[in-house]
Amino acid sequence: MSGSAACGAAVKADGYGLGARRIVERLAAEGARDFFVATWDEVAGLGPPPAGAALSVLHGVRHDDMAAAVASRARPVLNSAAQIIRWRGTGRPCDVMVDTGMNRLGVSVDEVADGLLDGLAIETLMSHLACADEDSAMNERQRASFASLRGRTSARRMSLANSAGVALGADYAFDLTRPGLALYGGSPRAGVAFAQVAWPEAQVIQRRRVAAGDSIGYGATFVATAPTEVAIVNLGYADGYRRALSSLGTAGGGRFALLGRVTMDLIALSVDAEPTLGEGDWIAIDYDLTELSAISGVSQYELLTGLGNRFER
Ligand SMILES: *Cc1c(COP(=O)(O)O)cnc(C)c1O
Repeated sequence: MSGSAACGAAVKADGYGLGARRIVERLAAEGARDFFVATWDEVAGLGPPPAGAALSVLHGVRHDDMAAAVASRARPVLNSAAQIIRWRGTGRPCDVMVDTGMNRLGVSVDEVADGLLDGLAIETLMSHLACADEDSAMNERQRASFASLRGRTSARRMSLANSAGVALGADYAFDLTRPGLALYGGSPRAGVAFAQVAWPEAQVIQRRRVAAGDSIGYGATFVATAPTEVAIVNLGYADGYRRALSSLGTAGGGRFALLGRVTMDLIALSVDAEPTLGEGDWIAIDYDLTELSAISGVSQYELLTGLGNRFER
């Protein structure tokens, strides 16, 4: 969908919670050459990048980052005049973020036009879309504002689109795209879906029979109306399985309903449909991001990046 633009990959937050090291390896094998993390700690956690791969650090360089940044092959994405002054003296290559309306990070289009970036060795000039997941007039305004900078800096390439931006079409792709969510099975815009990537599994610790009239768990929010076979499973909100999924989540492809609250380390599933399921058995937890987000109100991004360290990946 990136057309003739190179397709990079956002692998910040440990590859959206899925394990950045293996994701970088895999995507590099698929031809990706441009990877984006948020912090210099994330650079260190990745280890040496695959041959030919470039790594960019979206938060740029704070004063305290300079030693790590200068010692690294990764490039900072410079976000402010202060960061530009800090980096210029190194003579090293960098990326630059231009703010075209997000009002989060970046230097202004006017500052660029006034020569703020002169003397920098810029690999990629970037901007970021605020409303790409919606049909907003802001998308075209940001695109046009960014496009006006073509040829005005030393940048070798220009990059605007995240996942939703890629889905807006070829005009938004420029030279390099920066999808994250879409690579990990998210749906960045209504009607644009990708195959599921993350398939959480958890293990049964105990099977029990709950009598009619008995409740399960904190708050006793589930009360059995008939004798019910229940599996207690080693998954909870401390693993990123959100409490908002209480009484809503399912497992086993819809066969097992979640009964009562999601607690820190445990959930209870109705397993009448599976008489032989017992201690030690693994259960596939239903984790279609679009569907889960719709029923729980938790964003697809949070559902991924929250997946905790107790999961083996
Ligand atoms: C996180 C991020 C991306 C990727 O966004 P998705 O919506 O996950 O595709 C791209 N660019 C920047 C600057 C980001 O911070």
